[in-house]
Amino acid sequence: MDKRIINDLSANELAEAIAAMGEKRHRAVQILKWLYQKGAASFAGMTNLPRGLRERLDERFIISAPRLVESIRSSADASQKFLLEAADGALVETVLMEADGHRTICVSSQVGCPLGCSFCRTGDGGFERDLSSGEILGQILFFKSGYLPPRRRFNIVFMGMGEPLLNMRNLAAAIGILNAEEGFGLGEKRITVSTIGIPDRIRELAAANPRFSLALSLNATTDAARKRLMPAARDLDDTLAAAREFARARRARVTLEYVLIAGENDSDDDARRLAALSAGGPFKLNLIPFNEWEGCPHRRSDEDRIERFVALLLPTAPAVTVRRSQGNDIRAACGQLRLRRRSRD
Ligand code: SF4
Repeated sequence: MDKRIINDLSANELAEAIAAMGEKRHRAVQILKWLYQKGAASFAGMTNLPRGLRERLDERFIISAPRLVESIRSSADASQKFLLEAADGALVETVLMEADGHRTICVSSQVGCPLGCSFCRTGDGGFERDLSSGEILGQILFFKSGYLPPRRRFNIVFMGMGEPLLNMRNLAAAIGILNAEEGFGLGEKRITVSTIGIPDRIRELAAANPRFSLALSLNATTDAARKRLMPAARDLDDTLAAAREFARARRARVTLEYVLIAGENDSDDDARRLAALSAGGPFKLNLIPFNEWEGCPHRRSDEDRIERFVALLLPTAPAVTVRRSQGNDIRAACGQLRLRRRSRD
């Protein structure tokens, strides 16, 4: 019998599989707790399940866990980036960020990315495949198995490799387990999905179950400038309309992320347009000074420019923050470990 990866099953699918084995429903809840709350690495270790059930689970399923290949520490703070290997050899990057006692895990949703944003190292390295929901969750389980103190809360951001909304089914399944009380028990404030913005998929998610916060990678204030930086960017007005609909449906604000790149999107006119398009809307603005990586075509805006940009925004724009820490240097180079390893092989 071909074994299935148990972490790829949603809570409902697991309940159905357990019922099909003739077991009571509460066994599925026990298994979820073992997998995601206790980080069990084997069925044999699930000691409150009858031995016979543990053996049958072992015949039908495997618990998938990624293998650590390499890690690097940020030069600027306590953040650490990890290169993990999936069962088929695919390499993904994930980052553990620490600031003010809070831990945030930046996870990948795809192996590489097909969208080719000009400021992103991951886009530079091409696309291999989507990650399964179990592989998305596997990145978090990797940290639970040794890098996160037991019972400490943490945040998840989908800002690693890939465009999450291109992998909707697996994204929604993974968030379902993140939300579930018997899974990770994380609410919408602790999970952020960052996207370049695919309007129909944002609308679809606004009406769906998974609970998470939305961050829109805006990065420019006109369609032409957005397309220059992000060739796959959709119509700006429609993207913002979808973000407003999401905010209305969820009664929450959407974060507009804006990577400041010298000469590309940091002029006075850009700041005024950004202030105008966000004013009065259900948004928060997050400015991220660009971190340069070897071979990139862009430069970081200088400090005077960043200050001037913020000053122009402040009178009308909603809550503005400038993100300068939390592993920006290693996140900016997202994709770098994977590319380096591939060129060595
Ligand atoms: S910024 Fe995001 S969407 Fe763009 S290439 Fe990088 S991973 Fe893909």
